Amino acid sequence: MIVVMKAGSPEVEITRISEELSSKGLTAEKIVGKHKVVLGLVGETASLDPLQIQEVSPWIEQVLRVEQPFKRASLEFRHGQASEVIVNTPNGAVHFGQNHPIVTIAGPCSVENEAMIIETAQRVQAAGAQFLRGGAYKPRTSPYAFQGHGESALELLAAARSASGLGIITEVMDTAELDKIAAVADIVQVGARNMQNFSLLKKVGAQPKPVFLKRGMSATIEEWLMAAEYIMAAGNQNVILCERGIRTFDRQYARNTLDLSVIPVLRSLTHLPIAIDPSHGTGRAEYVPAMALAAIAAGTDALMIEVHPNPAKALSDGPQSLTPDRFDRLMSELAVIGKAVNRWSQPTALANY
Ligand code: PEP
Ligand code: MN
Repeated sequence: MIVVMKAGSPEVEITRISEELSSKGLTAEKIVGKHKVVLGLVGETASLDPLQIQEVSPWIEQVLRVEQPFKRASLEFRHGQASEVIVNTPNGAVHFGQNHPIVTIAGPCSVENEAMIIETAQRVQAAGAQFLRGGAYKPRTSPYAFQGHGESALELLAAARSASGLGIITEVMDTAELDKIAAVADIVQVGARNMQNFSLLKKVGAQPKPVFLKRGMSATIEEWLMAAEYIMAAGNQNVILCERGIRTFDRQYARNTLDLSVIPVLRSLTHLPIAIDPSHGTGRAEYVPAMALAAIAAGTDALMIEVHPNPAKALSDGPQSLTPDRFDRLMSELAVIGKAVNRWSQPTALANY
């Protein structure tokens, strides 16, 4: 249920209403919009009569039920207002959200060694990325495949952060590793394979770092939003949704089907920022640029792109990784569409491409 306050409602009245609602066993989350304040009510609201709440104050404009099963994640909960996730990186605050420039996250699938992660960080930073990605703990289909360097890779990510000023995003697979990952990461990633690992979702929800929630490879949009709801219900409202391709019948030419239609669909359902990962979405470096451009045209808030200094030698996901040179060129290509949709702020020091 949400309580929409009239424009200009006095702060003391909003506080009084929140207190009165909490005496009814409800938690009122205050959402400050451009023109109005909305109180999102969490708790046992099913038996409440909206008219009864309306009577609490003459400053209440409207009381509405949230019809979706996902409550905090729903667009209704914020009365149609996009949320933003603000992340402080050494190079400054980065805002993810519909009313902000597109955020670019780039880097290798896995952190392999110090030289490669520092080199990649510096190259993607120079090209205009704001975040470095790199797996320390890798979810691999085969137990015999490279599993990531674990804790020592976290130290290398911290070194790359200092060397480049980029924010760091890396995946958590196990609740036991969450604390040490969150100590280094500016954003914690929950991978496709763990989208419905509910104990992990509750744990990342109970810590303060923003969460990058990838869509499960066979997850419906509702299941994905309910996974976000788990994180938000545990206290962490800073969730970014990332589409990374879904499993389909034809894997001959592409690893997954990148579902770009989720962008408008999610826009109609949720206020959360949206990211697109064309690297895992296609599995082939040569298809990544087209899908990255399309994602911007379709309205994505962020892109996650795998970049490796030597894709042929990569320990994981080489075939879908761009070289730093190709990433440079891609950024200048993206700038054209990004500017056309008025959502580009990265430097365009790439005139030579
Ligand atoms: C990754 O980002 O490297 C990764 C494993 O992604 P996904 O969970 O989407 O497969
Ligand atoms: Mn990967």
